[in-house]
Amino acid sequence: MNCNIAVIPGDGIGPEIVREARKVLDKVGEVYGHTFNYEELDMGGCSIDKYGEPLTDETLEKAKKSDSVLLGAVGGNVGQSHWYELPPDKRPEAGLLKIRKGLGLFCNLRPAVLFDELSGACPLKEELTEGGFDFVVTRELTGGLYFGDRYTKEVDGVMTAVDTLTYNEEEIRRIAKWGFEIASKRSKKVCSVDKANVLDSSRLWRKVVKEVSADYPDVELTDMLVDNCAMQIVKDPKQFDVILTENMFGDILSDEASMVTGSIGMLSSASLGEGTLGLYEPSHGSAPDIAGQNKANPIATILSAAMMLKYSFNMLEESDAIENAVKAVLKKGLRTIDIMDEGKTCLGTIEMGDAICAEIK
Ligand code: NAD
Repeated sequence: MNCNIAVIPGDGIGPEIVREARKVLDKVGEVYGHTFNYEELDMGGCSIDKYGEPLTDETLEKAKKSDSVLLGAVGGNVGQSHWYELPPDKRPEAGLLKIRKGLGLFCNLRPAVLFDELSGACPLKEELTEGGFDFVVTRELTGGLYFGDRYTKEVDGVMTAVDTLTYNEEEIRRIAKWGFEIASKRSKKVCSVDKANVLDSSRLWRKVVKEVSADYPDVELTDMLVDNCAMQIVKDPKQFDVILTENMFGDILSDEASMVTGSIGMLSSASLGEGTLGLYEPSHGSAPDIAGQNKANPIATILSAAMMLKYSFNMLEESDAIENAVKAVLKKGLRTIDIMDEGKTCLGTIEMGDAICAEIK
């Protein structure tokens, strides 16, 4: 197969981790007889410096024409970088919102997997995580509070800020379908998370999710309030298979889920729309504190590339080969600094990429 991948290295550690993911994809191509062609695109701070905006329309068009997009991370040191003196819609992260919206990506998948070999990094008590856990947060990405009308104005002499949270039934239905589709290929359990005791948008969410569930009789549906879900993730993460939720709740819960796995450097993500074009990126940010030092863990980006093979190119065996290579490397005791433990071998970003490539045979 011949695949055209738009590659967006971004800022900070982005270029380093994307380089390793490309290396792994090339190795997969070599072993399985595929050709991956890459077109490098600018987004984030590097695009601001070149073009004055975090994502130009031309770059977005190029991404749209690709078969899939692999992204490192964007952004700088929020307290220090000149990028954050710009208005919010000109800052690096605005590029992320624009590309997700522009590519019609409304579904974000963030797997939270506790790898056996890294169970020591998990901050939860051992009896809660014995045997590991493996769930996916399926988050609506282009609606809700982050995309609603907002303004700040003086009301009766008092500064007042307003953000609006809107969902229509179609937005809910299409993300709910993804949630059930994904669950039907996993352990067949959807936990739909909302705040239906308070919010109208959540009451509509709950109603539509229930309607969609009728088309998936073999998938079990439960509802959970978001505050309870935040507690359950640290109390009993093994109970979850697919957590299905709206934009802001998903933002917060997926970060919480990443923390209970122990290392943000291990967590991949995918953003999907109606077709096969997706955006694949690590869950972490651009880590400016360790950029350019060969210290970043490239595994989250490499596992994101594995998700790309699965969801955009339907290369299931190839995707498994990457996941197994990561597991093999961890089993050999190879680590990057963020997941380093006593008695293990600490590798740099490049060396970790090489070690993973070597396991793909
Ligand atoms: P961050 O995820 O970049 O870093 C948090 C901590 O985790 C840091 O100590 C960092 O060194 C460490 N870390 C992150 N990824 C790592 C990796 N692969 N290997 C080893 N250690 C790793 O979050 P932050 O510091 O809050 O944000 C930094 C910048 O990234 C900000 O500008 C923020 O807006 C941006 N950001 C971008 C994205 C994105 O591009 N999708 C997501 C989150 C944050």
